[in-house]
Amino acid sequence: MGGGRQVLVVEDQVPIEEFEGIAFPVPATVHLEMRYVDRLLHIEGEIDVKAEGQCDSCLEDVSRAVHVDVDERFDPHAGSESDQFGENNVLTGDRLDVADLTQQLVLSAMPMGLRCGDDCKGLCGTCGANKNTSACSCDGE
Ligand SMILES: [Zn+2]
Ligand SMILES: [Zn+2]
Repeated sequence: MGGGRQVLVVEDQVPIEEFEGIAFPVPATVHLEMRYVDRLLHIEGEIDVKAEGQCDSCLEDVSRAVHVDVDERFDPHAGSESDQFGENNVLTGDRLDVADLTQQLVLSAMPMGLRCGDDCKGLCGTCGANKNTSACSCDGE
């Protein structure tokens, strides 16, 4: 110890469970650094994972990289009811459930629906053609 700040580094691969049609085919790559600062547990780092699902707009298969910047504070001395993650047992006493934390952080960082791209044109409301790949003759309406 020697009076220095003690840092616990976690390098892990965490499988993420499928969530509302979004699958995570490979485990998330987790890099976290934890340290106690003024009795609070600071967790900083990053999580990278690949998400797969259908584009909400055009229904094409989508595979997107998801990056999560982690910057969390936990009070290990707080009662479980005032701890925002307490009900999920991320932090039990001074033990941290990295898999549970990772799952929650990834899901909270996910957009409500996957899109194949910000400029997805979606499907034609009349004939159902994918407007990204084909120009149908319904235009001009
Ligand atoms: Zn799309
Ligand atoms: Zn059309």
